[in-house]
Amino acid sequence: MSRPGCSFGAAGALTSMQAPSGRCAMSHNPIVLLVVAVLFASPAHADDCPTLPRPLMRIRLTVTSSAVRDAAPVIKQVVEHVWQPEGIRVQWVEGAVTPDAWSGIDAWIAAIPGLRIASDIASDSGAMGEVLFADGMPRRMIRLSIDAAIDWVRRDQAARFGTSTRVLNLTLGDTARLVPYALGYAAAHELGHFVLGSAAHAKSGVMEATFEGAHRLLRTSAPLQLDRLNEARLRERLDEGASCP
Ligand SMILES: [Zn+2]
Repeated sequence: MSRPGCSFGAAGALTSMQAPSGRCAMSHNPIVLLVVAVLFASPAHADDCPTLPRPLMRIRLTVTSSAVRDAAPVIKQVVEHVWQPEGIRVQWVEGAVTPDAWSGIDAWIAAIPGLRIASDIASDSGAMGEVLFADGMPRRMIRLSIDAAIDWVRRDQAARFGTSTRVLNLTLGDTARLVPYALGYAAAHELGHFVLGSAAHAKSGVMEATFEGAHRLLRTSAPLQLDRLNEARLRERLDEGASCP
């Protein structure tokens, strides 16, 4: 006999209702709520815990290039600017990378020179960041391409001033200032995929698939806002994560 309730993807007797966000929708029937509470305590839910966001997330940040020596503080600032208003504070983990570098952290943002990324935030100069998914779950490593960020800023500046990217270098005013912001924007976007548990993109805001106009990062916070649909999804996931050990 089948019973009403949420399946959370598990096969069995429970009826499933899939919400637009991809999560299980709940009924207000008390019997159903009891079933849901049992499911929350089940091992299947516990398996989700490492990938659910928490109000305080411990994130390791490494920037392995002297070309953007001062990028780390800006990356942190941009990530905090995006995610703190959404209810996520970040405790940054730094220092030497040891064999146990993964212990005690929720995610690791690594800005790497010479990295070419095939997908995600698209631009002619290649994607600036990536977070991989396995079995629908985001992995904890977030990689940023320093080269793609530099190319992105150079193309934007060249288009604005009607010149060649070849005459622009990293010592020129806004171009130098913008590369760390571009990396910060990419970090915030990729962290969005992680905390939202989704590889999908939004029509506006920081989770847009493409973003042109790097110079806008210095002048408006609009590209860094989270769209309303994802705000709601994040709140759901934070609530779900609250029951994790
Ligand atoms: Zn993306």
